Amino acid sequence: MIKDNQPAQLGGFLSFTPDSLDSEVTTIWKTRTFAELAAPLTKAVGADTAKAFRALNVETVGDLLRLLPRHLMSGTALTDITALVEENRGSEEYVALKARVAKVDKKGEAPRERIEVRLTDGKGWLTATFFGRSSLIRYWQQLLSSSDRGIFAGKLGWFNREPQLAHPAFVMITDQGLKGSAKSMNMMARVNTNSFVGLYPQTAKLPTWTVAESISLAFTLVSPLEDPLPAWVREAAGLVDLDTAFQQVHNPLSEEAYAQGVRRLLFDEAFGAQVAMAYRRHDTSTHTAVPRPGQPDGLLTRFDAQLPFTLTDEQIAIGDQIGTDLAKTRPMQRLLQGEVGSGKTVVALRAMLAVVDSGGQAVLMAPTEVLAHQHASTILQLMGELAGAGLLAAEHATDVVLLTGAMTAATKGDAIERIANGQAGIVIGTHALLSTGVKFHDLGLVVVDEQHRFGVEQRNALAQQDAARPHVLVMTATPIPRSVAMTIFGDLDMSTLSKIPAGRAEVSTTVVDQVAHPAWVDRAWTRVREEVSTGRQVYIVAPRIGAGDGKEGRSVLELAQTLGEAPLAGLRIAVLHGRLPSSEKTEIMTRFGAGQIDVLIATSMIEVGVDHPNASMMVICDAEWFGISQLHQLRGRIGRGAYPGVCLLLTSAAEGTGARNRLEAVAATRDGFALAEADLAQRREGDVLGMTQAGRRSSLRLLKVLEHADLIEEARTLAEQAVQKDPTLSDPGVADYVMEIESRAEASLEDAA
Ligand code: ADP
Ligand code: MG
Repeated sequence: MIKDNQPAQLGGFLSFTPDSLDSEVTTIWKTRTFAELAAPLTKAVGADTAKAFRALNVETVGDLLRLLPRHLMSGTALTDITALVEENRGSEEYVALKARVAKVDKKGEAPRERIEVRLTDGKGWLTATFFGRSSLIRYWQQLLSSSDRGIFAGKLGWFNREPQLAHPAFVMITDQGLKGSAKSMNMMARVNTNSFVGLYPQTAKLPTWTVAESISLAFTLVSPLEDPLPAWVREAAGLVDLDTAFQQVHNPLSEEAYAQGVRRLLFDEAFGAQVAMAYRRHDTSTHTAVPRPGQPDGLLTRFDAQLPFTLTDEQIAIGDQIGTDLAKTRPMQRLLQGEVGSGKTVVALRAMLAVVDSGGQAVLMAPTEVLAHQHASTILQLMGELAGAGLLAAEHATDVVLLTGAMTAATKGDAIERIANGQAGIVIGTHALLSTGVKFHDLGLVVVDEQHRFGVEQRNALAQQDAARPHVLVMTATPIPRSVAMTIFGDLDMSTLSKIPAGRAEVSTTVVDQVAHPAWVDRAWTRVREEVSTGRQVYIVAPRIGAGDGKEGRSVLELAQTLGEAPLAGLRIAVLHGRLPSSEKTEIMTRFGAGQIDVLIATSMIEVGVDHPNASMMVICDAEWFGISQLHQLRGRIGRGAYPGVCLLLTSAAEGTGARNRLEAVAATRDGFALAEADLAQRREGDVLGMTQAGRRSSLRLLKVLEHADLIEEARTLAEQAVQKDPTLSDPGVADYVMEIESRAEASLEDAA
């Protein structure tokens, strides 16, 4: 709504102008504060440091200032080691802690000497080890023995399941002051008995004190910052001003001051997203759409008559809801959420048919090529002779056209032509549809499948266009509790399919502890063979593609080899992962669909949408590396037909750990909403909004959807008021909050194109 260079014609709203953002970059901000915070980090720190910060997702001065300490270390109290260890169990994180040095031991003989230091807070403990030349060993030993207190920062690793810090950087707190390396001293100089020191997220190249130092440099550069938030909002929400907030977060004099600062920064995130949405809503309400009321005896009626199953009551009710929306002169903005396998596709297709019956075109956007192909074949199959208006086609029929990036130029050209001349009533594709030269004859409806893959930012970019707009239906299989949805997807009406169509098979899920019971893993492969011998098919999922791609857990390629050699020898095995060329992916899915592959070893790319009822078993290797929602989505690929499903979660996560508990939760229920609650508790608003998944830095970094639900709600209320007070968005500060969100929408769309 801020941009006025959108393509003008109705059908052209999907054509995107990639350089539109560039031309505005310098003039984009209306306030100095936003401009300064958007400055690249190199304005504040050296190029090498700036580069190192990218690992923390920090690219601008503002990103840096919004990097919050993970812990507040008090000058006096020791870090709670038990909590620290528990928080990081199963992962390898950079941590910093203030601890008592209980024991310093020199072990081994030169030249293989090492020092082992036992750190404790009085309850929990942790070992720190140091290796090096004898002279260094002596120096360290002396330094470490100079006090019984120190601050240690390094990577928390696991050795024989015991937590261990290998070669932490450290400073000792002695009666004469601090002792340690020069680098660490700078920040540690701030430790005194009554103030607090923030311990920041770190990387190998950026220990917490370098982070603190950089923040302090950046802050000096921009402070004092004028507050872009209108005073009335600040007062209504009881917030400190922005400059004070940064100060209180990074140099806290008390825990209360810190909390106040954090609250302000959290509010800014919430307000940005909410006010952008409030203006979108306002904007939508000023637009019109062509009503698409359908036709009494058209395609939809015929389609319903030939469906091989009976629609559920919910499917019918939601269909009616959508039908009512489509008949209005306001563009529909509806979110259809529904459990995996709840039958969203047929609901969407019926809406698309109603639009075709009204003389318009409908487009279905899928997040991946595989899904686009699958949708095309499902839709062709469901439509039967209603698809394809060739010479022999039925009287009421329409062309169904597929358009993906991987298609040859000639096929693409043909598809684009049929889209442009209106011959194609139904268009299915990937985001290739958003890019070049696709013009619709008369686009009436946009359906976006698997919304969580696209993100709200992209969805909005879709909806940017001129006076009359198409209706929009977005679908997601990630269930979102209603309260959260209200605040987050506030610009959408919601429909929910809560039931799975009857006749769906059971899926039993079992966690297999491969450390405690290695024999069960062999049993799992035997089970795979049994399943295949009864004619069923199996998915095996692993966290990564090949060796050395920087991720943890077993890889698809390695599994394909080892399983193919022994436990699954003789079975028809194929691999599927994101690095394969599109044509190959499609071919593999087609062969799997035709039953020519027994076992498909894949990455989580099969997580969404793949619908193949003959697949009855899934083995997820190193399942602890997947999130709750992801596991639920993956499992949703089986038990889709009449055959009972078996899902095995292979893991090395020990009982009682957070990772293991997540797996047990997934095993305990197939209720997506219950799992979503568990999952959401850990997720940030940006994750839910899809902003981080779109691959870019997000303006939403800190907010947790459940934890900060109240703050989000408050921000929403104030955002509504802001629109009422200022419908034309003339306040420069508020305009910048909106711009921050909307400009990222374009950026993420560019990434996708
Ligand atoms: P999702 O909501 O996960 O996208 P789909 O739309 O892929 O689910 O539907 C899953 C399967 O259920 C498909 O094979 C579809 O044809 C089938 N299906 C949809 N609705 C019904 C129904 N009312 N009765 C029986 N099967 C149905
Ligand atoms: Mg689907």
